[in-house]
Amino acid sequence: MTLSITHLGSGSSGNATLLSTDETKILIDCGFSGRQIEKRLSLLEISPEDIDAILISHHHIDHSRGAMITQKRWGTKIQSNFETCARLGMDPVNECRIFEPLNRIEFGSDLSILPISVNHDGADNVGFIASHGGERAAIVTDLGSWNDELVRHMSECVHISLEANYDTKKLWNGPYPDNLKQRISGRGGHLSNRQTAELLANVTNKKTRSIVLCHLSEQNNAPHIAESEVLLEIDEVFDGDISISKKDGPEFSHYLGQSEPEKLVKIN
Ligand SMILES: [Zn+2]
Ligand SMILES: [Zn+2]
Repeated sequence: MTLSITHLGSGSSGNATLLSTDETKILIDCGFSGRQIEKRLSLLEISPEDIDAILISHHHIDHSRGAMITQKRWGTKIQSNFETCARLGMDPVNECRIFEPLNRIEFGSDLSILPISVNHDGADNVGFIASHGGERAAIVTDLGSWNDELVRHMSECVHISLEANYDTKKLWNGPYPDNLKQRISGRGGHLSNRQTAELLANVTNKKTRSIVLCHLSEQNNAPHIAESEVLLEIDEVFDGDISISKKDGPEFSHYLGQSEPEKLVKIN
């Protein structure tokens, strides 16, 4: 019994993460076009019809672009909080199932998801904690700051996917207008590599097996900068796997739980 976590791609051009167990397949965010979702899932030999639900973190287009079309074309259920549902122009009765922060959502007997509110750019954004077989994973992007609640839940996770959006120097020396620079780096914007490293230093412990840095800005960040800044901070406590989810995926999967042992004795 395992839960696999696979980023189909991440960044300002689109975000979607597949969580898959024996019983359930869900997407966290659906920020690619219907065609792209179909293509990226097909690389994992999965059809969009196999997806039970899409959970949308917030209404920004890089997280929601393909959700409605996936629902229309393949009948996938959409779940989000009320504000996100309203901002996407969806009907909260017929088009979207509403969840509340800190209310656990159960999918079959082997997967549950806990949404946690995070501060982000005028959106009612949530991070997600997935539980499977007694282990937990965090999928958290698009936040400018964090609170104790998030730290408490992330500390319990064996896998952490977290945004590392920008390098401060690159952002401030880059071409963006000043008001956008301020928005990105504000309390409700995105996490800098430094902040991501700080948050990870708070939540990484002996339990943590894998970390994926995601939602890197193409303009204001570079994978080697993000990775080295984070490792500098957590190197002493973390000796697991660290990787970066880029805009074109899927590239890799991480797992919770263990495969059931192979049956060696046949019972007649
Ligand atoms: Zn985003
Ligand atoms: Zn956003």
